[in-house]
Amino acid sequence: MKRPWKDVSVPIRDGMVHWPGDPECHIKRVNKIEEGSVCNLTHLSMSAHTGTHMDAPRHFIADGMTMEQMPLEAVIGRAKVFDLTAVEGQITADHLKGLKFATGQRVLFKTRNSTRSWAMNEFDKDFISIRADAAQYLVDQKVLTVGVDYLSIGGYGKDVVETHRIMLGAGVWVIEGLNLAEIKPGYYNLICLPLKIEGADGAPCRVVLR
Ligand SMILES: [Zn+2]
Repeated sequence: MKRPWKDVSVPIRDGMVHWPGDPECHIKRVNKIEEGSVCNLTHLSMSAHTGTHMDAPRHFIADGMTMEQMPLEAVIGRAKVFDLTAVEGQITADHLKGLKFATGQRVLFKTRNSTRSWAMNEFDKDFISIRADAAQYLVDQKVLTVGVDYLSIGGYGKDVVETHRIMLGAGVWVIEGLNLAEIKPGYYNLICLPLKIEGADGAPCRVVLR
């Protein structure tokens, strides 16, 4: 019997946590059956970087690729989940040097964010992020895709710009906002399908692992 798929995306909700300064997430039902409409209809208003989402290179690279240009290989196939729950502060190159990466690999990092940051009602400014030297290390390992378990690969008030420039500038595809609380380290089948938004620097996505 095949194991069940596990949903590692976070629910998109009205007023949910978002990166400070980014547009708020508003979800409003504008037609309501109980008020006489023939159907229910919901209006969405949010940043492309809401909840579980992907970053396209265009997010930090002026002429970088946009979401609809993403190769499906980046988000469908074997992926390795690494347990970095012992890391406090930032993930550094030293943390990664003991791990084995492969060219073209899809890697997901499970940190304390999955249980700690997502449990908070407000944006967690102290979430575990990827320091610039670790970003460069991942680029040097030639990984294809990197997934993290909070809203950004780079840290708030730290190296958010550097880490994004290094990884997106090297063509690494980035998945942010995963919740890996229920996921043990190891190999999985990954399916992550971001919305095909033309010209977009990012897109919300549903992500499942088995
Ligand atoms: Zn993003």
